[in-house]
Amino acid sequence: MIIETLSVFPEMFDSVMHASILGRAEAKGLFSFHAYDLRDWTHDRHRTVDDEPYGGGQGMLMKCEPLYEAIEDISSTGPRPRVVFFTPCGDRFTQATAERLAREERMLLVCGRYEGMDERVYDLADERLSIGDYVLTGGELPAMVVADAVIRLLPGALGNVMSSEDESFSSSGLLEYAQYTRPAEYRGKTVPETLLSGDHARVDAWRRRNAIERTCRWRPDLLEGADLTDAERAYARSLRGEGSEGHA
Ligand code: SAM
Repeated sequence: MIIETLSVFPEMFDSVMHASILGRAEAKGLFSFHAYDLRDWTHDRHRTVDDEPYGGGQGMLMKCEPLYEAIEDISSTGPRPRVVFFTPCGDRFTQATAERLAREERMLLVCGRYEGMDERVYDLADERLSIGDYVLTGGELPAMVVADAVIRLLPGALGNVMSSEDESFSSSGLLEYAQYTRPAEYRGKTVPETLLSGDHARVDAWRRRNAIERTCRWRPDLLEGADLTDAERAYARSLRGEGSEGHA
């Protein structure tokens, strides 16, 4: 997969995109990354990318010309990229979006700054994404969030092929079950006996039940779309408002 970003702060991507699992996935050739500097498509001495909004108002807006020229230029070679713009007005980014984007051959992530962009640039967008209902200073962090979520889904990126399948928001639509590691007792807090039993069927059943309980307690909004049997749905209904586990 080819992942590219277009922004006025390309250096922000340096550490995140090449570290840890992302760095290993890149070394394995699962993706290549390039951060373009939008100012390379300006034509004035000051390398201007912003201007005042028509109609007045606070702040500056990103201009059409550098964005159009850059996106057309970058897209003119290689496979056509899926062009993703970041804006708080976009569709909410979810795990399902990450799974869909992980099937793309090439993605160009376009990052805003200032008070946003001239509305006409969105004609170039295949989609507009928001990473949540809050306003950040720029689209670089959202681009890194999306790139991270997508890259870890690429086959071979995670050591264990199962590790992204059981996770929160994956195919079951549930939150992930509680997990524990050694020691079996710490400050009087014990690990559920079933997990120590070595009985895989019992462990699987415990985890499934625990995932339903946690989802009921913390994200009941997910239950509607979750993949549950009739018996599990009845169990979830019986639990609503009385999950078996606290945050502590
Ligand atoms: N004036 C805009 C508004 O109210 O919708 C906010 C602009 S924000 C200060 C500057 C840039 O940060 C945006 O163009 C976008 O690229 C990025 N950004 C900020 N919050 C975001 C979010 N929640 N999701 C995605 N991108 C965001």
